[in-house]
Amino acid sequence: MERFNVELERFKEDNAFETSLRPISWEDYIGQERIKKNLKVFIQASKKRKEPLDHILLFGPPGLGKTTLATIIANEMGANLKVTSAPMIEKSGDLAAILTNLEEGDILFIDEMHRLSNAIEEILYPAMEDYRLDIIVGSGPAAQTIQIDLARFTLIGATTRAGMLSSPLRDRFGMHFRLEFYSPQELAQIVTKAAAKLSKKIQSQAALEIAKRSRGTPRIALRLLRRVRDFADVAEEKEITLERTKEALEAMGVDERGFSELDLKLLKLLVEAKGRPLGLTTLSAALSEDEATIEDVIEPYLLAQGYIERTARGRIATPKTYELLNLSPKIQKPLF
Ligand code: ADP
Repeated sequence: MERFNVELERFKEDNAFETSLRPISWEDYIGQERIKKNLKVFIQASKKRKEPLDHILLFGPPGLGKTTLATIIANEMGANLKVTSAPMIEKSGDLAAILTNLEEGDILFIDEMHRLSNAIEEILYPAMEDYRLDIIVGSGPAAQTIQIDLARFTLIGATTRAGMLSSPLRDRFGMHFRLEFYSPQELAQIVTKAAAKLSKKIQSQAALEIAKRSRGTPRIALRLLRRVRDFADVAEEKEITLERTKEALEAMGVDERGFSELDLKLLKLLVEAKGRPLGLTTLSAALSEDEATIEDVIEPYLLAQGYIERTARGRIATPKTYELLNLSPKIQKPLF
């Protein structure tokens, strides 16, 4: 329990830290150039026409900057941003209350869109298409549908799972963007800017070292920066040096290549399977991790880096994985 409380406190602190560093303008939003370029055009066009922006769907693993993008879009549009998450919208009344409270031009951000229930999705359709809410009053033959006009709003939906969204829902978004993992250089820029906001100097090599170990993810890079800064503060150093960074990351057990413990366990399992594809259920049982975490958090980075391949029968290791684990794919070929 004690340990849980410490973890919870740390989680809360990390959240507050992250929010305080969240960029609110394009200049501070590093990378994702294609998305930025497109969005800038769409925002300009809709402002010119004095119309609300079309609905936007953002795909991508956690921590890549979906919420941050929504914040910047709202800022650029000079609009209010209301943030919620699908698991918080349990009943149709919850969504109706949110929608009827929106004002002209407001932006509604719904995280984890793939977790919306069918009943809630049905309410969203006319709201997204015609800015209309259809409410059924009563039941049986006496049931009546009341229509309520809504203010013209923009929905920004975020999901870690493109495939789990129903196609009618997906189709109602005018723009779809997939966020990419960040390069170490981009992450180093994010770390440097964040350190400057915290009034802490950081050597460029130190920022790059953090970046390389962050699984291409700004949220991880910022979390590591926070811990490294603690080490530098305790040592009473004004500047975060490469040496201190390495020491801190090592003390925290962060892998030199940026892999998490789970990444390495998963890769080992695949290699030990000797070329036999492993299904999600098997991986989940072997790693004691739920399937959603494996699919949403662990796999996307390993796939993007070419360490695993997904086949119709399951996941397999690639030659790069054998190389990483210092094994030869030839020796590991299936025996039958
Ligand atoms: P998501 O909603 O995809 O889980 P967030 O938008 O919450 O991710 O991003 C996590 C943190 O990482 C943010 O608080 C922000 O400080 C930082 N961040 C994300 N993307 C960028 C970026 N492109 N440039 C700078 N900082 C970023």
